[in-house]
Amino acid sequence: MAKDYYKILDIPEFSTQDEIKSAYRHLARKWHPDVAGSSADVIAKFKEINEAYEILSDKNRKADYDTARRFYSYAKETKEYKKTAKPASDGETNSAKKQGFTFNWEDFFANKKQKNAYQKEVHAPQKGEDIYSDVEISVFEAAGGTTKVINMLQTQICPKCRGRKFVNASKCPYCNGKGETSTYKRFNVKIPAGIKDKSKIRLAGEGEKGLNGGANGDLYLTIHIREPKNYKTEGLNILKTVPVSPFEAVLGAEISIPTLKGNVSFKIAPNTQNGQKIRLSGCGIVQNNKVGDMIVTVEIQIPKSLTQEEINLYKKLREVSSGRVRE
Ligand SMILES: [Zn+2]
Repeated sequence: MAKDYYKILDIPEFSTQDEIKSAYRHLARKWHPDVAGSSADVIAKFKEINEAYEILSDKNRKADYDTARRFYSYAKETKEYKKTAKPASDGETNSAKKQGFTFNWEDFFANKKQKNAYQKEVHAPQKGEDIYSDVEISVFEAAGGTTKVINMLQTQICPKCRGRKFVNASKCPYCNGKGETSTYKRFNVKIPAGIKDKSKIRLAGEGEKGLNGGANGDLYLTIHIREPKNYKTEGLNILKTVPVSPFEAVLGAEISIPTLKGNVSFKIAPNTQNGQKIRLSGCGIVQNNKVGDMIVTVEIQIPKSLTQEEINLYKKLREVSSGRVRE
C-alpha cells in the first residue's frame, strides 16, 4: 500500500526539515494515544504519523521516498488517474501492473533493508524534563556547609517504545504500557556554607534523560533549613540550654549531649548553679577552616512527677538543710 507521507503530515512536498519536524510534533501531540485515546483508529493514525516522520526526517530515506513518490505520481498521471491523492487500491495497483508500472511500496523499502520503519526510533532530539525536589538541613549544616546523600527516583522515557506505550500497536512489554521506566539514583550533594533557606541547587544533566541526543533535564533541589530545637547560633558558636536535675547540680554529673561532632560528654562540677555556662571547645559550626564552640547553659529542672520516696527524701532534706539561699 502506498502512503503519501506529505499528506499524512499535512505539508507541501518541498517543506524544510524544520517544517517537517514542526508538523510532526503538532500531529504527534494531537494523536498521541494518551491524548486521543487508544482506539484502533487513533493508534493506526499515530503509527502513520510516526512512520511518515521516520521517513521524511531521514535525508537518505526521504530522497528514496521522493523518487518513488514522483515515479508513482507519474504512473498515475500517465493513466490519467484522479490527482486527488487517494491511497492506492488493489485496482490501481493492478492497473499499474497492466501498464508495466509495477510498483510496490513495501518492496521498495524492503529492498532498502528498511523494514519495520515504525519500530525504529524517531530521530528528533528531545530535551529531558527537569526534576524538582527538596532537601532538609539543620541550621548548623546551613551555616557550616554539608554533604547530603539523597536518592532520587529518576524517570526516563522507555527505551523500547520511546514513550509511545505501544510497540506494533500492542502494549509495550518493557514498560508495561507506561511509556517510561524509573530507577533510583544516589547523589552526594554538596551544600555550601552559608546557604539561605529556600535556595535552589541545580545538578546539571541529572534530570530526566533526553531522547535521541537531546540534552538531559536538570535536577533542582530546594534547600529547607529546619527550625532549630533548643539551639541558637551566635556567629560560629552554638548556644544550647541543658536541663539538669537538682541532685546533678549539687553533686556534679557527667552529661552527654548531641553536637555536630556526634555525642559529646562533659562534666558539670559539684554545686553548679542554674544558668552557669560551660564551653565545649570546637563543637560549634565549622566554616572556612574556622570552628566555633558550643556554649551550654545549665538549667536546673525539677522532674514533673516525683515518687513518694523522692518526696520523703526532700522532706528529710528540709529538716537537715543548712543552706539559706535567700540571705
Ligand atoms: Zn515501553
